[in-house]
Amino acid sequence: MCTPGQLQAIGKATERETNAIAGVLRQCACRRTFLRSALAFSVAPLVGRLPALAANGMTFSEVAPGVFVHQGRYELQSPENRGDMANASFVIGNDAVAVIDTLGSAKVGAEMRAAIRAITDKPIRYVVNSHMHPDHVLGNVAFKEDGAEFVGHHKLARGLAARADQYLATSKHMLGADAFDGSEIIPPTVSVNDKLTLNLGGRSLVCEAQTVAHTDNDLIIIDTATDTLFLGDLLFSGHIPTLDGSLRGWLALIEQLEGRKAARVVPGHGPHAMLLPEAVSAEKEYWSVVAADVRRLIEDGKSLAEATKTAGSSERDKWRLFEQYHVRNVTAAFAELEWE
Ligand SMILES: [Zn+2]
Repeated sequence: MCTPGQLQAIGKATERETNAIAGVLRQCACRRTFLRSALAFSVAPLVGRLPALAANGMTFSEVAPGVFVHQGRYELQSPENRGDMANASFVIGNDAVAVIDTLGSAKVGAEMRAAIRAITDKPIRYVVNSHMHPDHVLGNVAFKEDGAEFVGHHKLARGLAARADQYLATSKHMLGADAFDGSEIIPPTVSVNDKLTLNLGGRSLVCEAQTVAHTDNDLIIIDTATDTLFLGDLLFSGHIPTLDGSLRGWLALIEQLEGRKAARVVPGHGPHAMLLPEAVSAEKEYWSVVAADVRRLIEDGKSLAEATKTAGSSERDKWRLFEQYHVRNVTAAFAELEWE
């Protein structure tokens, strides 16, 4: 059993102490009780430095009561990160748990599931995918044993079907066979046409299907109990935004988000939680600069190759992974805007 002293120690934990706590956890026979007590002690500010809980190797922060967020690394897929390079969350209701995104491999999905199981034994009723990208969906397979419903935008099934072979091949190549092992594409079993409410007992998640922006199958998920908006990859912070949908659509959606009220928003890549409207300002600036530069270059009769050399280059120092994604973004923007 855990001693009151151990519980107190966990309750006062800061991020720096997480590793030490993880060591204690491994020795603790009552891990679940231990973590629940730890959560009762933790007082999470709305945004900013949050108490971090390491459960079975994966760290989650409780950004609002019953709302847990794991922050992924700002990296490309690699054998070292095993596909842990996006944010992933879960919400605990009175009766059940909902998972929001499952990271980028069966292995990190299983680690996420183990971390949830260390915190609550309530059934995992829903796995919601914010959109189709592999770093958000390849861990779905880890939740099959729960009999969970897989929830996604009404265009998610089609998007995944069209790209499944490419996603699996690329992920296997980038992650390596070991880290990739067991990963598969799990299509949605429940589709969101406009709005859909998921009941967790005493709290609900509202899923809102969006028009084309980051992809053509983006969902916004709202935890109404805490007024938390999970924006998936409609919000990037620190990590350069990536375009696989519509630049004009995304900018229009950002304007809507600026006028929206929420206690906090959770990005798909970035910190655990942020505040509107500031949260979207860097992303808005990036896409506005790219759009303005590309439009001017098209007007001047420049080619795509020329555009990729200069468009948006003033944003270079503001973003991680700029070199890896920016040319692709300009290419997508050029293809969209040259037909305006
Ligand atoms: Zn994405």
